[in-house]
Amino acid sequence: MKTTADIRRDFLEFFRSKGHTVVPSSPLVPGNDKTLLFTNAGMVQFKDVFLGAEKRSYTRAVSSQRCVRAGGKHNDLDQVGYTARHHTFFEMLGNFSFGDYFKQDAIAYAWELLTEVWKLPKERLLVTIYHTDDEAFEIWNKQIGLPPERIIRIGDNKGKPYASDNFWQMADTGPCGPCTEIFYDHGDHIAGGPPGSPDEDGDRYIEIWNNVFMQFDRQPDGSLLPLPAPCVDTGMGLERIAAVLQHVHSNYEIDLFQHLIKAAAAITNTADLEHKSLRVIADHTRACSFLIVDGVLPSNDGRGYVLRRIIRRAIRHFWKLGALSAEGNFWRMAQPLIEAMGEAYPELVEKRTLIERALKAEEAAFAQTLDAGMARLEGYLTQSAGTIDGEQLFQLHDTYGCPPDLILDILREKGLPDVSAEVTAEYERLMEEQRERARKAGKFGGGVAMPAELIAQLTPTDFLGYDRLDADDLEVVA
Ligand code: ATP
Ligand code: MG
Ligand code: MG
Ligand code: MG
Repeated sequence: MKTTADIRRDFLEFFRSKGHTVVPSSPLVPGNDKTLLFTNAGMVQFKDVFLGAEKRSYTRAVSSQRCVRAGGKHNDLDQVGYTARHHTFFEMLGNFSFGDYFKQDAIAYAWELLTEVWKLPKERLLVTIYHTDDEAFEIWNKQIGLPPERIIRIGDNKGKPYASDNFWQMADTGPCGPCTEIFYDHGDHIAGGPPGSPDEDGDRYIEIWNNVFMQFDRQPDGSLLPLPAPCVDTGMGLERIAAVLQHVHSNYEIDLFQHLIKAAAAITNTADLEHKSLRVIADHTRACSFLIVDGVLPSNDGRGYVLRRIIRRAIRHFWKLGALSAEGNFWRMAQPLIEAMGEAYPELVEKRTLIERALKAEEAAFAQTLDAGMARLEGYLTQSAGTIDGEQLFQLHDTYGCPPDLILDILREKGLPDVSAEVTAEYERLMEEQRERARKAGKFGGGVAMPAELIAQLTPTDFLGYDRLDADDLEVVA
């Protein structure tokens, strides 16, 4: 069986053999872009190359990029634990052309790797194209030989976050263009329809690879300017292709995740390896550890607040498994993570102590209030027949350190209705009042201060988009 590490290597080697320069993953905190919370795709480090503002010594590149999608335009935090295919942290394999090859070669390379190198059965593959892209249709149909019924035309699906969308963009502004996506049919024993169908959100047809034909630069007013030259930007989820090549359905069944899940099961003394909480812990271990490696520490705003919320969600799952302890447990996941990914990412090994100490500090603080917070939540839910109001959301956050997205995830687990926009707005209003009080008092309340020596070990990050982040937080709780 090919391991996840083999698959990563295969990909880089395949494109190296096609004249691509192997470029290392950039950090999760984008160095070149203040509009972006986290690196959410392989193209982020090449953004200025697409825009023509930066020149490199090569016109073809290949990478395996670490990505986090837990805020901003691409936010999958609420999908984790509910689908077979979404993580907060994942690796995106990608090949790039900077004004070099375009549609024809991009599609031919993708097909060659999937069906000749990896020998995937062709009849399991289907593709989507941008609805007006007749050129892509011709290439798939005439050159590759895909029958028309397996080439699905799709437009841009604004407003439906998990519907197929064949116009890709990194963020609200920046490089973008039409795309063609390759899907793998995991078989009719799994629920879900093909892309574009009403039940496409199922896990039967899983999107494995997106090939974007970068042609435009989206302006703040929404208009599209052409790029200096047409480019190619592709992204394939390493964990998703590993699931296909390892003949399993869910990403959580691949070698890498099984290693983490078994470790979490041992730490929490859980017999059921399919337990959803183990999957969430495994996912969040990766996101939190890599964010810390890349210079983020838990805090009450900006990127640090996203990290804090992911850590607390993980800790809540330890609590759910009855494994919250004074010495902490989450930090113990750093070791198995290093075993699984330390070879590909030596920075994990180097920053091991930092990861462990940051997770430990956050868990120690949250463990003091979590139990009481959960009891209070139960009280609220009994009082008001399974609903919660803005004041209660605020109390759970302010007094017990339980952020609203964590509470809303619990409501969802219990099958209770989501809160309304009014509830979220009321929560936000109370938070703002509280921030105002804290500002007046000259301090920032409600959080755990990280020890100064931990902070000293960090590479500073200078993300300043608080306003945007607040909007993102609303998105999470909406
Ligand atoms: P989906 O529709 O499944 O949410 P996407 O269309 O948002 O995926 P793209 O932005 O096209 O994803 O990213 C390129 C590839 O990265 C996807 O085809 C998929 O293989 C992988 N990918 C995207 N999001 C995730 C995620 N949250 N976890 C794991 N892999 C992902
Ligand atoms: Mg998505
Ligand atoms: Mg998609
Ligand atoms: Mg996609």
